[in-house]
Amino acid sequence: MRRQAVKYALRGVLIALAVAGSATMARAIWETTALDAARATGETRASLVAEAISNAIGQNEHFPLVMALDPDVQAALANPGDPVLAGFLNRKLEMITAASSPAALYVMKRDGTTLSSSNWNSEDSFVGQNYSFRSYFTEAMATGKGSYFGIGATTGRAGYFVSRAVGANPVLGVAIAKIEFYDLEATWERSSEHIMVADSSGIVFLASLPDWKYRTFEPLDEIAVTRIEQTRQFAGRAIEALELEQRGAGPDHIWIAGLPENRTYLRQTAAIPELGWTVLQLSDLQGVADAGRDGMVIGGTGAALLVAILFYLAQRQHSYRTERRAREELEIRVAERTSELSEANAMLHQEVEERRRAEQELRATQHDLVQAGKLAALGQMSAAIAHEINQPLTAMRTYIATTRIFAPLGDPQPVLDNLDKVDGLAQRMGRITSHLKSFARKEGMGAPELVSVDWAILRAVDLAEVQARALDVAFDVDILPTWTMGNEVRLEQVILNLVRNALDAVAETEMPCVRIAVVQEAGLVRISVRDNGPGFTPEVLETLFDPFVTTKPSGAGLGLGLTISSEIVRDFGGTISARNHPQGGAELTVELKSEAAPAIKEGVRTNA
Ligand code: ADP
Repeated sequence: MRRQAVKYALRGVLIALAVAGSATMARAIWETTALDAARATGETRASLVAEAISNAIGQNEHFPLVMALDPDVQAALANPGDPVLAGFLNRKLEMITAASSPAALYVMKRDGTTLSSSNWNSEDSFVGQNYSFRSYFTEAMATGKGSYFGIGATTGRAGYFVSRAVGANPVLGVAIAKIEFYDLEATWERSSEHIMVADSSGIVFLASLPDWKYRTFEPLDEIAVTRIEQTRQFAGRAIEALELEQRGAGPDHIWIAGLPENRTYLRQTAAIPELGWTVLQLSDLQGVADAGRDGMVIGGTGAALLVAILFYLAQRQHSYRTERRAREELEIRVAERTSELSEANAMLHQEVEERRRAEQELRATQHDLVQAGKLAALGQMSAAIAHEINQPLTAMRTYIATTRIFAPLGDPQPVLDNLDKVDGLAQRMGRITSHLKSFARKEGMGAPELVSVDWAILRAVDLAEVQARALDVAFDVDILPTWTMGNEVRLEQVILNLVRNALDAVAETEMPCVRIAVVQEAGLVRISVRDNGPGFTPEVLETLFDPFVTTKPSGAGLGLGLTISSEIVRDFGGTISARNHPQGGAELTVELKSEAAPAIKEGVRTNA
């Protein structure tokens, strides 16, 4: 139980670890990919901005040179007191500015005072203003050309100034073009880009966010501060450091005041080497964070799904194995049960065999008993039979003696008559002995055969005749031809038993009579043997068919006659019953199944 719990807990921890690991890994991969993409885009953007600035300057920086070579400029500077020339130049510069991109074009005299300017007609016209403090002027005067970024002293608008000296030996003055970048800034602002441009001192002078302008990433050193103040580069504005925080992974992951508080940005730069400027591009890293979160969810969900599938498969495998085990067990049980059944079956077979053998033995015993019964009956009849045979023997002797007397007399007729009588007597004796022989013969236990009932009765009566005659009993035989399945001698034995019992019963009766009748009805042959003797006592009637029930003196009866008879009748599938007839005397009835008569049997009977 506890082991199971530990196993489950361990499995849970492993699954959690797998899911967490997969989520973390996926998050890292997604983040790296997104960061790489952001980096590539940012780099491109920064380069594009640097290029745009270079282009803006490149388009306009030739103007001072063109102006320096222009005869009108030269003429006006050569005659600084001529208002017509200066006025003409004013309008010319105005026309050029209107048709092209510089913010302003102007010409300064040798002392730094503006002679003519494209904005001569505006409120903050440069005309008459002295900008000798600007480096672009001093540099041009000294070296022939100059450039400078700063906030306009008159307009307050920042711009890039490019200058050229007009004339040489002596220098007549300086021609200047001012280039502004307000359009670029507006574009950045509109497209929500975060861009700054810083000069070589690290001071931001162009920015998508106005707040970032005139600020630095690093605090300025004193020399720089002094220079800026002297040249009034930023119109006296204090240069402050940008509020910047480093956030997250690398030094280029930052946040700068003015941007949404909860975001981190990727800082990328592109140099504009010819100006010494640096473009700074900030890419919002929210997309990277989002991608990381997506990756985490996908990785976690994927791992969970995988674990679920593995679980499902394992579960399926488990239940498949359990099912297979159950099936195997069932098969084993079925096999065991089958072998048990086979054993039981074999035992049953053996038992059946034993029973069959026992039954056979029983039948043999029964057969012997029947035979014994037959012989007992013959034994009991032997005196009467001997008498029956003696009588004709005596008569024969008498006939033979008289024949001896008649023979010498020469009259053949009395001799022939006597011989006929002797022959008749011999035939009678032969009939009796043949009956006895066939009755006493030991029969095999053959299969049932068609038996003529009336024929069996006649033969039994024939055997009993001797005894009947001795007792002077009248037989009343009322039979009809009927057939049943069984054994002829045995049926004869049954009837002989009944007839002999009846003869014994009427021994004391006056006018003794035995009636044998056959009735056929409802598919049955009913044989009844009735006498006019004393009938059965109630005790005898109750146990009549039990073995050794006899009322006869020892030697006269064994009490087996009815027992054997009832066995034989049962073997034939029939019944035997006894009752006291309402009109007195005993009546025994045998009921057998009636069968149709075959032609051949009919023949056999008539022959005998
Ligand atoms: P056994 O004839 O050797 O005695 P049985 O089984 O044939 O044996 O008969 C049993 C007894 O049934 C006889 O002893 C007799 O008492 C009685 N019994 C049989 N038949 C009759 C009958 N027809 N009338 C009166 N009693 C009979």
